[in-house]
Amino acid sequence: MHYQPTIDLLQNRIILVTGASDGIGREAALTYARYGATVLLVGRNEEKLRDVASEIQNRGLAQPQWFVLDYDSADAESCYQFGHRLAGLVPHLDGVLHNAGILGDIVPMTEQNPEVWERVMQINVNVTFYLTQALLPLLLKSKAGSLVFTSSSVGRQGRAGWGAYAVSKFATEGMMQVLAEEYRHRNLRVNCINPGGTRTKMRASAFPTEDASKLKTPGDLMPLYLWLMGEDSRRKTGMSFDAQPKRKPGIAE
Ligand code: NDP
Repeated sequence: MHYQPTIDLLQNRIILVTGASDGIGREAALTYARYGATVLLVGRNEEKLRDVASEIQNRGLAQPQWFVLDYDSADAESCYQFGHRLAGLVPHLDGVLHNAGILGDIVPMTEQNPEVWERVMQINVNVTFYLTQALLPLLLKSKAGSLVFTSSSVGRQGRAGWGAYAVSKFATEGMMQVLAEEYRHRNLRVNCINPGGTRTKMRASAFPTEDASKLKTPGDLMPLYLWLMGEDSRRKTGMSFDAQPKRKPGIAE
């Protein structure tokens, strides 16, 4: 995407990023902060979150806050409590990037382990939904809120072996579409990003033999991540965007 945002694109915006401790989420949090946002970092690993927060602080950017939320054990009640706690700390949320996710096992359906299946659904779908419910009141307090989910090419077209992960990403696309319709006439837009194959630890575990140097880095994807959080995407809702539109799904060649 050829998008050149101004450096104050996200000035005075408050943006929450889940899975902010690593990979794409980490890069998105650092980038949003660089473009002026106050970022709220959510993840399960306190040390990694603290590192991201320190990096933002050391660059002299708006003071971030971080919150430990382990999606393995989170439920509707703990997400509600988290939303309640946030409401005491910030006046509104201008953006939420749902980015935390896991891959599960890449095996045929007959071999999908039910426990792993449930864990993928818990993290990629259920907690993402509970958090969305808990954060919607704060998002609706923004003049122009942006709720962004993270999808995948296998969330639009099924692929052999991608069982739980693919099904969870189809659910994510569905959640986005339903919410976009429900808030179409309000001050909230709801969209998905499909990052496309990107150099992260999740990608390396899905394609261990792949030459990672052939993949885009999280930093390369940031123009779309910025655009969807800023003014310029204000009228877009109910859409699923590709961060790498020209890339064919599958192993990098
Ligand atoms: P990473 O594995 O690098 O990062 C995933 C993030 O989710 C980390 O911050 C991780 O925390 C967090 N997370 C995992 N499990 C939990 C949990 N139980 N509770 C809280 N947080 C958790 O993955 P990517 O950056 O590659 O992926 C980011 C998103 O992009 C995912 O939704 C993924 O499905 C999607 N995606 C990625 C693609 C790629 O090629 N990389 C392609 C298409 C979609 P921790 O640091 O503690 O592990």
